[in-house]
Amino acid sequence: MSQPCRHYEVVSQLVEKAAIAMQLDPQVKELLREPMRTLTVSIPVKMDDHTVKVFKAFRCQHNNVLGPFKGGIRFHHQADEDEVKSLAALMTYKCALVGLPFGGAKGGVLCDPSQLSAGELERLSRGFVRAIAPIIGPDQDIPAPDMNTNAKIMGWFVDEFAQVRGVYQPGVVTGKPVALGGSQGRTEATGRGIMYVTREAATAFGLELKGATAAIQGFGNVGSYAAKFLYDEGCKIIAVTDIFGGVYDPTGIDPYQLKEHELKTGSVRGFTGTSPISSQELLALKCDILIPAALGNQLTAENAGDVKCEWVVEAANGPTTPEADEILQRKGILVIPDILANAGGVTVSYFEWVQNNYSYYWSEEEVDQRLEKVMADAFDEVYETYLSGEGTTLRVAAYMVALQRLAKAMEARGWVTT
Ligand code: GLU
Repeated sequence: MSQPCRHYEVVSQLVEKAAIAMQLDPQVKELLREPMRTLTVSIPVKMDDHTVKVFKAFRCQHNNVLGPFKGGIRFHHQADEDEVKSLAALMTYKCALVGLPFGGAKGGVLCDPSQLSAGELERLSRGFVRAIAPIIGPDQDIPAPDMNTNAKIMGWFVDEFAQVRGVYQPGVVTGKPVALGGSQGRTEATGRGIMYVTREAATAFGLELKGATAAIQGFGNVGSYAAKFLYDEGCKIIAVTDIFGGVYDPTGIDPYQLKEHELKTGSVRGFTGTSPISSQELLALKCDILIPAALGNQLTAENAGDVKCEWVVEAANGPTTPEADEILQRKGILVIPDILANAGGVTVSYFEWVQNNYSYYWSEEEVDQRLEKVMADAFDEVYETYLSGEGTTLRVAAYMVALQRLAKAMEARGWVTT
């Protein structure tokens, strides 16, 4: 089951496929082959029992030809350098694909946040910012939330950065609390973006969203909002899992009530009127839309053959291995790739950064309208590229659009010889 770590190699393979299809300038490929910088840090934290514990963490800056590095920070007990590098690369392609003036970065702190007290979590978060402070800034590299990090932690990031640098610069981090210059709609943005892209795809590929069945793996920030917004569009959510278990109801689950249940009990398990379902069973459910919204590498060579959905909408980063991707393609399952499907989060992060730069703030309606346009335009561009290439996939098309933008910027900056 557990394969040797090869996350970065997997992203490189995806890029390679698109590069071949579009006959990408080899110099551009060469410049994107390795991240520009990966910083490894050790963060000493005073624990509640008065001992000192040192946590390992990384910030990988993949490429910044389009603008300052951008990407979230995840707190996870399996965070490692290879995974962080691959996620940073995905950010480079995601930002390029949706046309944001940002490069790609990612951070990972090796820790189990469920084992940390509130005080320990705050000291670790502040320690991480002190450690990476020399390489971040509103015009250099702008962190944001990712797995197990949230607006509260971003608030500590901004404050600690202000203490280190001696100036208060809210634009150094996005996904902040609204009280500190966070954007309206940022928390919901990834889930909302999933809905906008799914809606565009439904029109393009002729799927009636009203009554379409959806199964969602993961009920964190991304999965729970995706569930709510798709439910609002008329989708029937038939199954949801989290790390503790899952629930299944073929007649449909109300995700709003499920969230309330989860907040009360700590898990989706045991929600009224549902039967239990495992994560593996969920991935093999017959449904219209399967949404992996948890960890990477969930659809693999081992289980992709069992997948019975019509579409996979990748809300998580890297949920499908290349082997699984090929199996799904052979089975005629449409995959809406991560760099398109989940780009709503970083898009509203961009809006937040713009609002911080202007010190002028937008209403939630304004943010949502702009988000809808960015997601719809990105989908259209990918779809056109998809239609023009024979036998291609939406993933290859998405990478082609992204690489085109990166190549143009590299040419314009004189990074490659023409
Ligand atoms: N962590 C999110 C992602 O993977 C958002 C990153 C950001 O807002 O910078 O896209």
